[in-house]
Amino acid sequence: MNTSLSLFRLQTLFTRRVVIRRRLEQIETLLAEDETVKAADLAREAAAQTFETAQKIQSDHQALMEERRLKKDLTHAQLFGGKVRSPKELQELELEEKILTDLLSKMEDEMMSQMASSDQAKADLESAKSLHQAAIDQKATDSSLLIAERSKLQEELGPLGVQLKSLAQEIPTEIFKDFQELLRIKKGRAVAEISDGSCDACGMDLTPADLQLAKSSPKPIRCKNCGRMLFFKS
Ligand SMILES: [Zn+2]
Repeated sequence: MNTSLSLFRLQTLFTRRVVIRRRLEQIETLLAEDETVKAADLAREAAAQTFETAQKIQSDHQALMEERRLKKDLTHAQLFGGKVRSPKELQELELEEKILTDLLSKMEDEMMSQMASSDQAKADLESAKSLHQAAIDQKATDSSLLIAERSKLQEELGPLGVQLKSLAQEIPTEIFKDFQELLRIKKGRAVAEISDGSCDACGMDLTPADLQLAKSSPKPIRCKNCGRMLFFKS
């Protein structure tokens, strides 16, 4: 095989290997990441806390109402029981009953609004639970896709390495060293195709003599502008 062609293929394989390795790193990062699930879990915990607080407020309020209702019943019984006869005391009992009745009516209204808050908190908690579960499910789906992709890429790496090695052996040592150096300097593009008589990497036109040389020389010629090895695709 023509050395330039081998170099060009080698470069294609190198590039593919770089792409695979980068993607594998990215996959590891994505697999380790679980911010979305963590955030959904925190939101669920917060919603549970809010619901618990709303329930506590409601039950404390109901207990207090019960206590006042009993007190009102007692006052009422005293008022009409016949044992208390002093007009002053009766007047006091009457006033107390009225105060308790008003208070209980206010507390009844408050209880309605507390029940609404508690219902809302319960609905919010249910929705936070579903979102948390959905985040867990999504993470599992994403992870299984990523794991499948990782296996496929890892399987590709083995044969790719073998191909790279055997191709590298076809290239004279000196040229291979130059190629590796260029690959490093030119960030993965050491070899450029010649298309329409110019270097595909930098656009520099080749002289007819260089074009002829690129076609016939067993060794790759360099672009006079960017220094890349030129490959004539016949
Ligand atoms: Zn060039």
